Amino acid sequence: MNAEIIAVGSELLLGQIVNSNAQFISEQLAEVGVNVYYHTSVGDNPERLHHAITVAEGRADLLIFTGGLGPTKDDLTKETIAKSLGTTLTMDEDALESIKSYFNKVNREMTPNNEKQALILAGSQVLKNEHGMAPGMLLKKDDKAYMLLPGPPSEMKPMFSKYGKQAIFSLLKKKEIIHSRVMRFFGIGEAQLETELEDLIDKQTNPTIAPLAGDGEVTLRLTAKHESKDIAASLLDTVEADIMAIVGDYFYGYNQDSLFEVGFKLLKEKGLTLSCAESLTGGLFQAQLASLPGASFILNGGVVCYQDEVKKTILSVKESTLEEHTSVSEQCARELAENVKELFSSDIGISFTGVAGPGSHEGKPAGTVWIGLSIKGQPTKAFLLNLGGGRNANRVRTAKYGWHYLIKELS
Ligand code: ATP
Repeated sequence: MNAEIIAVGSELLLGQIVNSNAQFISEQLAEVGVNVYYHTSVGDNPERLHHAITVAEGRADLLIFTGGLGPTKDDLTKETIAKSLGTTLTMDEDALESIKSYFNKVNREMTPNNEKQALILAGSQVLKNEHGMAPGMLLKKDDKAYMLLPGPPSEMKPMFSKYGKQAIFSLLKKKEIIHSRVMRFFGIGEAQLETELEDLIDKQTNPTIAPLAGDGEVTLRLTAKHESKDIAASLLDTVEADIMAIVGDYFYGYNQDSLFEVGFKLLKEKGLTLSCAESLTGGLFQAQLASLPGASFILNGGVVCYQDEVKKTILSVKESTLEEHTSVSEQCARELAENVKELFSSDIGISFTGVAGPGSHEGKPAGTVWIGLSIKGQPTKAFLLNLGGGRNANRVRTAKYGWHYLIKELS
């Protein structure tokens, strides 16, 4: 089955609201194996809506409408669909009762135009609105299905999740379920990841592999279709193992995981404490750690050592280091990491020193960053980054690289 989502509302076309309903419904339909090939937005205009219906009927089995089910004159979705399909609207007594009792409850007079909300397409299945007044509905006609949902997301989402999705599922001849898994990677670009996995991506049909880049990270969405949940999961496991054999070094987590949550879990499992010396990140790394419950078992303390004076006096960076190598140097990053570890008696010291930008600093171009990492019982390491973003992107990216190296060293 393939579907088209038709969002009705002039405010969508005027740019006053974003079509988040289409995004939500598409995501939900993917889970039941229904392909969405088109999103259409159309204003509150009967001729253009009629045209959109005719076009959609030519290319979709299921047409899902949102918006325009309300009581006012410009809410004309039902009326227009009824006319297009050559059918009529009938009063749904249950829906009418619940609208009346709503007005009773809030002690407001019900104006006659509110009755219009209880009209449904003749012969349709009603989808109850438990968060508002206008009911949704599903009509099967010939070889097509038409689902009408209210516009407000606070009404549409619960209605679709509770009643709409199941109603669509029961229409499907082949009840394949889609299982998705997102694998998250850091430290490798999208182009490189795709090149490394080119053969695998090309030969893969079920599951499919789709790369996506954003915020300096790359994700792969693996999507398997099967009637059995267990078989779909094992299809995903197999392709995941193939991916890990090629780019496993860059993998850090699944689905909504973030680098700092993964790093936090690792530190917690190993019972390690940590301290940070942060120059260009200005406390960002520690703030991420502190945002998670249980941070007090890990984070001993830290220093935002923005000025050289602070690096020298509080974190004992040698005068000669700053004079000979400047603060944006491997030597400085190493000393900061080692000394902050000692200062707070932690197992791990991590440091960030570099040029956030936009201008250069001490002869080093924007985006030059050193990360120092000192882990008890191991030789101190330092990592050089050459970042190409704006000031804040560089700061955020630096903190992410900090987690990336920490995870790698601890794994
Ligand atoms: P109402 O009874 O509130 O009139 P309705 O079903 O007639 O509901 P609309 O009047 O079209 O829906 O839209 C009501 C509100 O719902 C809009 O002002 C907007 O805030 C939200 N909305 C409508 N369509 C969408 C959409 N596609 N995506 C996100 N929000 C939407």
